[in-house]
Amino acid sequence: MTDDLSYSGSDRIDDLIERERAPHREPQVRITGLMVQYYHVCQRELWFMSRGIDIDRGTANIRRGSYVDEHSYRDNRRSFSIDGRISLDLLDDGDVMEVKVSSKLEEPPRMQLLYYLWYLDRIHGVEKSGVLAYPEERSRESVELTEDTASEVEATLRGIIDTVDAESPPKLEKKPYCASCLYQDICWL
Ligand code: SF4
Repeated sequence: MTDDLSYSGSDRIDDLIERERAPHREPQVRITGLMVQYYHVCQRELWFMSRGIDIDRGTANIRRGSYVDEHSYRDNRRSFSIDGRISLDLLDDGDVMEVKVSSKLEEPPRMQLLYYLWYLDRIHGVEKSGVLAYPEERSRESVELTEDTASEVEATLRGIIDTVDAESPPKLEKKPYCASCLYQDICWL
């Protein structure tokens, strides 16, 4: 995967990769794993976050997610923070693991994990496989970086840059996640 550059055809993506590889050059947008997840949940939520309109992280859902993450597979994984962009856990067998409470919201965590694999591969030349784990459901899913999934990541990164660059938030539209979203007071009251 590392040697195959054919899936990287965009100027913006090439520029982002070049800047991430050179610590003295800041990328246009510093893209974190959480931003990738927000992009796939609601782009409006991503825009609020990019403007520092933050949410109360002490709410019950977030506390539960943090608890499950912090108390699952603790003996078999080690945490790393890389370039201030991504924080990931490596299992003993070398796979990158992302722990989630529920598999209901499948796409956002899958894209977040793919971004980690893409970032390791494209910025640091390290090839890894990924595992999405749902300890409360006792299930796991393998996630691999391929040409197709790398293209999905790059389309996401372009979308994030466009969203964050915009002067105003994306148009308000009802989403399945609105009822449990911590920005609902801003959006709907
Ligand atoms: S309340 Fe709905 S529209 Fe507003 S940020 Fe949350 S998910 Fe997006």
